[in-house]
Amino acid sequence: MSEKLAPVRVRFAPSPTGRTHLGSGRTALYNYLLARQTGGQFILRIEDTDQRRYVPEAEQELMDSLHWLGLNWDEGPDVGGPYGPYRQSERKGIYLDYAHQLIEQDKAYYCFCTAERLKAVRAEQMRLKQPLQYDGTCRNLSHQEALDRVRNGEPHVIRFKTPHSGAITVHDYLRGDITVENSSIDDYILVKSDGWALYHLAAMVDDHLMKITHVLRSSEWLSTFPLHGHIIRAFEWEEPVFVHLSVFLKPSGKGKMSKRESNQLIQDGYSIFIKDLENLGYLPEAVINWIALMGWSYDDHTEFFTLEDLVKKFSLDHLNPAPAAINFTKFDHFNGLHIRHLSQSDLAQRVKPFLLQAGLKVDDGKLLRIIPIIQERLVTLDDAVQVAGFFFKEELEIDPEELVGKNMNADESIQALEKAYQILLPLETINSETAEEKLRSLAEELNLKAGQLFGILRIAITGQAVSPPLFECMDIIGKETVLKRIEQAKNYLRDLEFDE
Ligand code: GLU
Repeated sequence: MSEKLAPVRVRFAPSPTGRTHLGSGRTALYNYLLARQTGGQFILRIEDTDQRRYVPEAEQELMDSLHWLGLNWDEGPDVGGPYGPYRQSERKGIYLDYAHQLIEQDKAYYCFCTAERLKAVRAEQMRLKQPLQYDGTCRNLSHQEALDRVRNGEPHVIRFKTPHSGAITVHDYLRGDITVENSSIDDYILVKSDGWALYHLAAMVDDHLMKITHVLRSSEWLSTFPLHGHIIRAFEWEEPVFVHLSVFLKPSGKGKMSKRESNQLIQDGYSIFIKDLENLGYLPEAVINWIALMGWSYDDHTEFFTLEDLVKKFSLDHLNPAPAAINFTKFDHFNGLHIRHLSQSDLAQRVKPFLLQAGLKVDDGKLLRIIPIIQERLVTLDDAVQVAGFFFKEELEIDPEELVGKNMNADESIQALEKAYQILLPLETINSETAEEKLRSLAEELNLKAGQLFGILRIAITGQAVSPPLFECMDIIGKETVLKRIEQAKNYLRDLEFDE
C-alpha cells in the first residue's frame, strides 16, 4: 500500500530528557524511510515542554546520534523550515491559544483544584476501588466564575472536557480500530499551572500546524491515543495516520530494559545508547540494518539492507506490532556483514581512529595492506587493535613460555628459530612464495610438523597465537622487523633457559 503513498510529512519528536537509545533511533529511522521513499519531508521536533525533566546535553546527543546514523532531517530547530519554530519551548503561546479556543467552545475548562485536594480524591477513590480519575469538581463551574478566578490570579490548570457518555473509536494502522468508553477517559490536563502545555495538546497542535500526515510513534502512547483522537476531533482537524510501533524488550525477552540492566550491558561491551555504539566500534550501517528489522521485515529471508535498500523496500504494511527483543548477537553478526561490505579504503579510515586511540602509530600505506587480511576477522572496528595491533608496535610483549613450540623444549625452539633466521636472512622479501617452501623443508629436517615451526614463528613475529596468515603478516611487517623479532624471541627463550 505504502508504495502508492503521496509524499508524506512525518516527524520524529523526541523529548530531550535523557540519552538517545535504540528505540528512538528506530522511530526516527522508520519516519525517515517513509519520507525519503515518498519524496516527502522528515521533520525533527524537539518536545521540551517538561522543564523539570529537561537535560541540556540531551538535544546535542540526539542530533549527533541521528547524524551519525545518516538520518538527516529536512526541517528542524537547527535547519529551520516553513512551520517553525521546531522546539516546543518556543511555542508556548500557540498552545495556550488553542487551549483557550477549546475553553471558548466548552470543550475544555479551567480547574482550580489544589494538589492536596486531588490527593485526597485519589485516596478516596483507591479506598472505594474506583477508577482513578479527576472527579469533575471544576467541570461545571460557570464560564464567568472560572474567568474571574483566573483573573484574580488563582492557580489553575486547563483540562480537556471528555464526554461522559458514548465511546470513541480511533484507528491504528497496525492494530485497526480501537474503541473505548468515554467514561474510562480522564479529563486530562492540557495545560499545567505554570502555563506549559502537556504532550497531549502540544503534539496534536503541532502535528496539525506542521501538516503531519503520518504519526509513527512509540506504542507507549496507545493508552492515551483515544484522548488524542478526542482533541483532534474537538478542533475538527484532519487526522493523520497513526502507527504505534512495537515495544523493545530486553535481550531475555522478559520485560523492558531497566536502567540497571542497561548499565550492566555497558560493562559487557554493549549498549542501548546510540552514541556508545559508535565508540564500541559498531558501524552506523549495522545499527540501521539491525534496528530496521526489529519490528519490520521485507520477506522471510532477506537480512542485509543498506539505508538505500530500506528507502526502496520499507513498507508500513510489513511492520510487526509484536514486541521485539534486543538481540546483540544479531547485532554483532550485522556489524561483521557490513564491515565486509565496506571498501578497503573506507574500512581503513574507520579502523584508524581505534588504532590511534590504542596508542599505536599508524602508517596509512601499511594499514591499507593489512585491511584485506583482517576484513574477514573483524566483528567490531576496535577488534583491529587486537587482530592487527602488532603491525604497528615497535616492541612486542611476549610471554617467553609461549615461544616454546608444541611438544618441544626451549632449546629446540631456539634452534628452530635460529635455522629459520638463517633461511630468511638472504631473502630479498619474505612472503609465501619466497619463504614458505623453504620453511616447510626446514620443519621436515628438524623432524617437526610445519605447524610446530609456524606456531613459534607466529608468536615471535606477531606476539599472538592467532593471527592473520603468517606469510602475509611477514610480508607486510617487512624483512628487517621480522628478523629483529626472531632475534628478540631467541633472547626471550634464552632468558627462559637461564631461569630454569
Ligand atoms: N515526545 C515524545 C517522546 O519523547 C514522543 C512523541 C511522539 O512521537 O509523538 O516520547
